[in-house]
Amino acid sequence: MNDIAHNIQHIRARMQKACVQSGRNPDEVKLLLATKTVEPERILEAFAAGETLMGENKVQELKAKFEALKAVPHETHFIGHLQTNKVKEVVQYANCLQSLDRMELAEKLHQRLEATDKTLDVLVQVNTSFEESKFGIAPDAALAFAQSLKSLERLRIRGLMTIGLFSGDEKAVRRCFQTLRQLQQDFLSKGIAAHELSMGMSNDLEWAIAEGATIIRVGTAIFGQRIYPDSHYWNEKNPEA
Ligand SMILES: *Cc1c(COP(=O)(O)O)cnc(C)c1O
Repeated sequence: MNDIAHNIQHIRARMQKACVQSGRNPDEVKLLLATKTVEPERILEAFAAGETLMGENKVQELKAKFEALKAVPHETHFIGHLQTNKVKEVVQYANCLQSLDRMELAEKLHQRLEATDKTLDVLVQVNTSFEESKFGIAPDAALAFAQSLKSLERLRIRGLMTIGLFSGDEKAVRRCFQTLRQLQQDFLSKGIAAHELSMGMSNDLEWAIAEGATIIRVGTAIFGQRIYPDSHYWNEKNPEA
């Protein structure tokens, strides 16, 4: 068995255990491969091991890998910060945008969806950790934002996404996930079908599953350490991001 298949087996076991421990059905939790910087050949190894869902952070990688991987059935979510001038590629190549966090972006996406007569699944990204370096709408603004999307009927709100606090402090990290789950309840009570909770990564997936995650996003624990620090992807001050 290759490294990637082995690592996936390990993650699947962690997910299974976390579900059992929190009394959840393992079928309720999907594994998304966070594939930033990972070459298509290695993603194919993960697909060969049975995986079918991946997430990209950059439009350039989204597009390049779409071409390289299109022969193998799979779904791709966009999980990175999206600039308004790059909505076209996301509409064309992604099945879901997990990082919807502002009205200007929603409007640009909607224009593109109208022009191409398409719809797009979206998750509202919330900044639950209040870290400046992370994108996402403030928790207290999320519901009003989602409600203001109603007129943009080509955007289909499927749930919420967050990046938890980077910390080994279980309580503090779980508080982020609880915030997202509480918001999900608010969305549902207003008739917004926000059934997906995308939260949890390599280091905190057990806590996220315990708090109700339906999608966990795992990179490092499957593909190994990346060359770029995550600030390259998450830092607002980085013009490339
Ligand atoms: C990179 C990334 C992940 C995966 O993080 P790991 O710690 O490598 O598992 C999850 N979500 C987002 C938005 C990411 O950019």
